[in-house]
Amino acid sequence: MARIELRSIAHAYVAVPASEQDYALRPLELVWEDGGAYALLGPSGCGKTTLLNIISGLLRPTRGQVLFDGVDVTEAPPQRRNIAQVFQFPVIYDTMTVSENLAFPLRNRGLGASETRARVEEVAELLELTPDLRLRASGLSADMRQRISLGRGLVRRDVAAILLDEPLTVIDPHVKWLLRRKLKQVHEQLKMTLVYVTHDQVEALTLADRVVVMNQGRVVQVGTPQELFERPADTFVGYFIGSPGMNLLPCTVEDDAVVVEGQRLALDAGVCARARSAGGELRLGIRPEFLRRVPEGTPSSVRVEVTQVENLGRHKLATAKLGAQALKVRLPEEERLAPGESCWLELPPRWTTLYAGGRAIP
Ligand code: ADP
Ligand code: MG
Repeated sequence: MARIELRSIAHAYVAVPASEQDYALRPLELVWEDGGAYALLGPSGCGKTTLLNIISGLLRPTRGQVLFDGVDVTEAPPQRRNIAQVFQFPVIYDTMTVSENLAFPLRNRGLGASETRARVEEVAELLELTPDLRLRASGLSADMRQRISLGRGLVRRDVAAILLDEPLTVIDPHVKWLLRRKLKQVHEQLKMTLVYVTHDQVEALTLADRVVVMNQGRVVQVGTPQELFERPADTFVGYFIGSPGMNLLPCTVEDDAVVVEGQRLALDAGVCARARSAGGELRLGIRPEFLRRVPEGTPSSVRVEVTQVENLGRHKLATAKLGAQALKVRLPEEERLAPGESCWLELPPRWTTLYAGGRAIP
């Protein structure tokens, strides 16, 4: 087990990077605490696999250092880093049985036969592969093959960390859910440092204690699922997480108010001052879940016109027009509201964030 630290890591795939654009990873600092369950979340192409391969040693970073428990391993090959990596597509030996596949990482390291057998049986049990241990791997279904691949990652007791790169992509939705639960269970038992790469927010939020959100080669926020939901540090986190994502309205600031489409909203004067000096485009962020319908205007409410109401069973999702902009609003199911009606919506100051150039104003 290990605490993994990335110091000023940057990576360019081109030999002679000329501009920012040439970097798949922009300079970043990151610490993965020993025993933590992390998700690395971001859209396709944002640099997740690059970051993972730098941790495992498959890729040497253009700049910066990788430290395991304080020791610089930047130059160390993967074998010396003691990391188990599970890839997006199963990596298994077709000519071997399920059991031989699972035993392979242990045999490779000279573990005794009886201990190997015990570990294989334990992992097989966990991944529900026990009845299939004697089958040859060739010809097994995609999700069985990926379970074997996962098993090969989990079978060793001595790994510093296990890195999983979108391991459930090829697996059918029902089994996906099962495997995710298993993985969480395994982590609770073994407490290895776990880094789980995904582009799926639901997967990230259900599996991890902490989520590292990436966009365009940058880490934009690290936080618990709750922090990412309640306090997005970046507009990208606001709209990428949540369904639908955060409302982000272009606005201007006056002394102690934000002005959106000509309507004033009272806001902390300090925040307004910092927003003005921060520079960059200003946006007001509020999640659909935190907007409230109020009977009359207040210093923190706006007048809107409802354009659409969807009934989603336990709640309603309304779309409302605020001048030229659209707002999504989540309402209790008993709320009576029809398209064409106007109403007041309150933006509780506690849940309202001002962003300058994409970053939250503290
Ligand atoms: P993700 O895993 O988040 O989808 P990647 O780390 O695979 O993202 O890719 C990040 C960026 O680096 C992308 O723009 C991708 O095209 C580029 N890239 C990835 N691998 C290579 C490579 N081997 N050679 C050149 N460019 C690469
Ligand atoms: Mg990838």
